[in-house]
Amino acid sequence: MKNLVILGGGYGGMKILSELLPNNLPEDVKITLVDRVPYHCLKTEYYALAAGTISDKEVRVDFPEHPQLTVKYGEVISIEPQDKKVLMKDDESISYDDLIIGLGCEDKYHNVPGADQFTYSIQSIEKSRKTYSALNNLGPGSVVGIVGAGLSGVELASELSESRSDLNIKLFDRGKHILSAFPDRLSKYVENWFVKHNVEIINNSNITRVEENTLYNNDKPIKCDVIVWTAGIQANKVVQNMDTEKDRSGRLVITPRHHLPNDENIFILGDCASLPHAPSAQLAEGQAVQIVEVLRKRWNGEEPPAEFPPIKLKGVLGSLGKKQGFGMMADRAITGRVARLLKSGILWLYKFHNG
Ligand SMILES: Cc1cc2nc3c(=O)[nH]c(=O)nc-3n(C[C@H](O)[C@H](O)[C@H](O)COP(=O)(O)OP(=O)(O)OC[C@H]3O[C@@H](n4cnc5c(N)ncnc54)[C@H](O)[C@@H]3O)c2cc1C
Repeated sequence: MKNLVILGGGYGGMKILSELLPNNLPEDVKITLVDRVPYHCLKTEYYALAAGTISDKEVRVDFPEHPQLTVKYGEVISIEPQDKKVLMKDDESISYDDLIIGLGCEDKYHNVPGADQFTYSIQSIEKSRKTYSALNNLGPGSVVGIVGAGLSGVELASELSESRSDLNIKLFDRGKHILSAFPDRLSKYVENWFVKHNVEIINNSNITRVEENTLYNNDKPIKCDVIVWTAGIQANKVVQNMDTEKDRSGRLVITPRHHLPNDENIFILGDCASLPHAPSAQLAEGQAVQIVEVLRKRWNGEEPPAEFPPIKLKGVLGSLGKKQGFGMMADRAITGRVARLLKSGILWLYKFHNG
C-alpha cells in the first residue's frame, strides 16, 4: 500500500479528502490525515467565535470516515524529507510515500517588541478561544485595541461592536484608509459603518511596541484592556523551518505541479504555499483539486500536466456584524444586506457539503 500523508485538515486538506473519497482513491493507496485538532475547523468564522456571537460547535465539522483513511490526532514538529518521515511531538514518526503539507499560517508580528507576548490572536482555534474569553470577560467601557484593518480585523471589530456596544473599540491601521486591498468605495462604506457604530479608526498608525495593556502607536502609549493582533500572517513555523526556498512570508516556493522544486513527493498547500494570490480558503481548495489531479495521473502511471490553468477565485466577502457585509464578486463591489446574505449562504453550503 502507498501512504499518502496529509498534514492539516483545514480547507485545503478537506478538499483533498473530498476529491478522493469515497470513490476516487485507488485500492492500493491509504491516506493518513494528521491534525492537532480532532475535527475540521472553520477558520473563516474565528472572528465570530472570538467575539462570542457563535458557539464553538458551530465552527467544527467532523472529518470524513473511510476504510482507507486514518486520522491521526497530534502536533507535527518537523518534516524529514531525506527519511520520508514526519516527526510528531509525542516522539512518534509517520512515514509517507507522498506528503501534502497544509498546516496553514500563524501571526506575523513584524518584529514589533512585545506583540507576540501581549496580544491576542484569531489565527488558530485554541488562540481564538483565549481571545473569546478575554474579550467577553471585559466590563463596560473597557478599551479593545485591534491592530490591523484587513478582512479579519474588520470582521472582528464589527462583530464585537454589534454585540458589545458598551465596549470602546479602536481599530489601528497602517494605511490612509482601512481595507487597503479593496476599492475605495468599499473602504469608505466600511468606514462609515464603523463611524455609525462608534468604532474608532486610527489611520496611519505604526505600532512600535506592545506592553501589557499598552499599545505604542508611533511611540505614543495607548491603554487597552485587551489587544488583538490581526496585522499580518506568515506560513506555519514547521514549514518555515524546512530547508527549501521561501518567500518573504515564509511560504514555500513550489512548481506549477504544487510540489517542492527538489522533491516531487512533497506538495505544499494553501497558506503554506507561495502563490500569486493573497492566501484564502478558496485558493487552498483550488490548489487541492490540482494536486489531486497530479497524484491520480501518477497513480495511473500517466504523466501529470506540466502546468494548470490559473486558479479561478470567485471573490471575497466580509461581514459587518450579522446584517451587513461587503465584498468583491466577479470584480464588482457589493455592499449591504445582499453581501451579508451571500456570505451566510456560502457558509451554509460549505457545511452542507462537508458536514
Ligand atoms: C477571521 C478570518 C476570516 C477569513 N475569511 C476568509 C474568507 O471569507 N474567505 C477565504 O477564502 N478565506 C478567509 N480567511 C483565510 C482562510 O481561513 C485561510 O486562507 C484558510 O484557512 C487556509 O486554508 P489551509 O488549508 O491552508 O489552512 P487552515 O484552514 O488554517 O488549516 C490548517 C490546519 O493545520 C492544523 N495544524 C496547524 N499546525 C499544526 C501542527 N503543527 N500539527 C498538526 N496540525 C496542525 C490546524 O489545526 C488546521 O486544521 C479568513 C481567515 C481569518 C482568520
